[in-house]
Amino acid sequence: AKKRGRNRFYWFELQMENELRYRNELETGVREAVKAQEFVPFYEQQIDLETGNLVGFEMLARWQSSKYGMVNPDIFIPVAEKIDLIGELSEQLIRQALSDAHEWDPSLSLSVNISPLQLRDPWFAQKLLQILVESGFPPHRLEIEITESCLHENVAAVRSIVSSLKNQGIRISLDDFGTGYSSLSQLRSLPFDRLKIDRSFVTEMAAENVGGELVRAIVALGKGLSLPVTAEGIENGKVLQELQGLGDIKGQGYLYGRPEDARATRQRLSKLGLL
Ligand code: C2E
Ligand code: CA
Ligand code: CA
Ligand code: CA
Repeated sequence: AKKRGRNRFYWFELQMENELRYRNELETGVREAVKAQEFVPFYEQQIDLETGNLVGFEMLARWQSSKYGMVNPDIFIPVAEKIDLIGELSEQLIRQALSDAHEWDPSLSLSVNISPLQLRDPWFAQKLLQILVESGFPPHRLEIEITESCLHENVAAVRSIVSSLKNQGIRISLDDFGTGYSSLSQLRSLPFDRLKIDRSFVTEMAAENVGGELVRAIVALGKGLSLPVTAEGIENGKVLQELQGLGDIKGQGYLYGRPEDARATRQRLSKLGLL
């Protein structure tokens, strides 16, 4: 909790500075951090809501900065995208994550987030498969999460990347589903393996308003399209209970714990006999 507070302090402090100076400083910071490999993977538990079993982790990037403290991805990912270092940053993180996940129980999957910009790189699939081969991590345990904005990119190019990854056994999830502008027909344009319901809809379930209806509708859509569904942002037992009533879905959220670093994750797994 302390770390988060400090993080926020820096964020406000930085916001107060001259906007341009701040941006330049941050760009320089991210550039140096990529060189110094200051990015670390954190892991968020993914749970089978029916059984309560841990089924895998989503890797979430953190910047362990000597200057700013622990920085969240919402701040540095857009910067890395802007200065064209997102590919390199992502490769560093995925290498670490695959090596961490290699030590976990083989029943556990690893999900990683991929920026739409990375899908514009014609070498993306080859690079990812190369890293995977070097790590020895089984492709069928890897899942990549792409957001709806990818559907606005060159769909033919994205489709060819997606199919070469799928040919190797990697699964593809559509992240933050419901927040973008994709139409339902676009949803069928790529062979997704899973829908991830955006946190905003899940959070609203607790308030018993329209959010709950949207979650129910997305789960029904998933059933209709034979797409498994994950609900993210489960923060309390009430929401969990409602989701459990919707059938066989997976979930993640602060109810199960905050994202943790590799060491804390290992400790958690060791207690569960999953190491
Ligand atoms: P996301 O993929 O939607 O990840 C879920 C975010 O929601 C994470 O924030 C997670 O910590 C947070 N979260 C999880 N459960 C709860 C909950 O119960 N309540 C609340 N309030 N929040 C919850 P985080 O780690 O700050 O990541 C933010 C976004 O940054 C991610 O959203 C993802 O889009 C992006 N991101 C993270 N790592 C990477 C990466 O390696 N590459 C790329 N391209 N993007 C990344
Ligand atoms: Ca995600
Ligand atoms: Ca998400
Ligand atoms: Ca999100």
